[in-house]
Amino acid sequence: MSDAASGVEPGPVRPSGPARLTVVSGPSGVGKSSVLDELRRQAPEVYFSVSVTTRRPREGEVDGVHYHFVRPTEFERMVADGEMLEHARYAGNRYGTPRNPVERALATGRDAVLEIELQGARQVRRSMPEAQLVMLLPPSWEALVQRLTGRGTEDPEVVRARLETARQELAAEPEFDATVVNADVRAATSELVRLVTGRGAGGADPDPGRGAGGPAVGDTAVGGPAVEGPDGGGRQAGASPGAEDTERFA
Ligand code: 5GP
Repeated sequence: MSDAASGVEPGPVRPSGPARLTVVSGPSGVGKSSVLDELRRQAPEVYFSVSVTTRRPREGEVDGVHYHFVRPTEFERMVADGEMLEHARYAGNRYGTPRNPVERALATGRDAVLEIELQGARQVRRSMPEAQLVMLLPPSWEALVQRLTGRGTEDPEVVRARLETARQELAAEPEFDATVVNADVRAATSELVRLVTGRGAGGADPDPGRGAGGPAVGDTAVGGPAVEGPDGGGRQAGASPGAEDTERFA
């Protein structure tokens, strides 16, 4: 992959403090792409990592923009040469984050975002403990089920497998520094802008959501309606995680 393909342009230098790396994860169906698209609009100065994948492009996906689409041998070479910040296998394909563009963005003072799945998020936690891990949550388990089954075109077995994966991903929530509930794309994105760039929402908190077990950040729903996990356990959207929350989606 050439430098030109890395997509890193010199960005504005943050007025204070080092640039921040934010990892955004969340189960399939939670609305990650809508929120991330909106984040690109609201925070164009942020560097968004372009992952490498062995899966085939979907219709409308552009090589070098949505992903760098490579053959398995090239993916292997990049892993062997230490070019991946993290990498994982997901749904039969391989995905990885090219290390250099992210490191260069951060070195030039530019905040950076990775949108990756759970195994990759865990690797980043280990290799870059200063990175901030944010989990995007559905407003309720039912809402997620609705999103994953709503189209009604999927094989029930495929839907069941996706729901099981989603359940496992949601159970990892306590490993994350902050959560954002996607009940409304714009509200969820505003929270994410604040976490990723440290700006907005009064701007008083220079380092929001840091530290495992730190405050969960919801959308506008603090004090809002309690929502139910698949086990029927109620939860308060946007509330701080407690021991009882560990299994709220489990
Ligand atoms: P999709 O094939 O639907 O674009 O992505 C499938 C999953 O792979 C999503 O959960 C997405 O977040 C994750 N993913 C995309 N790029 C990367 C990456 O570079 N590393 C890891 N670990 N996961 C990724």
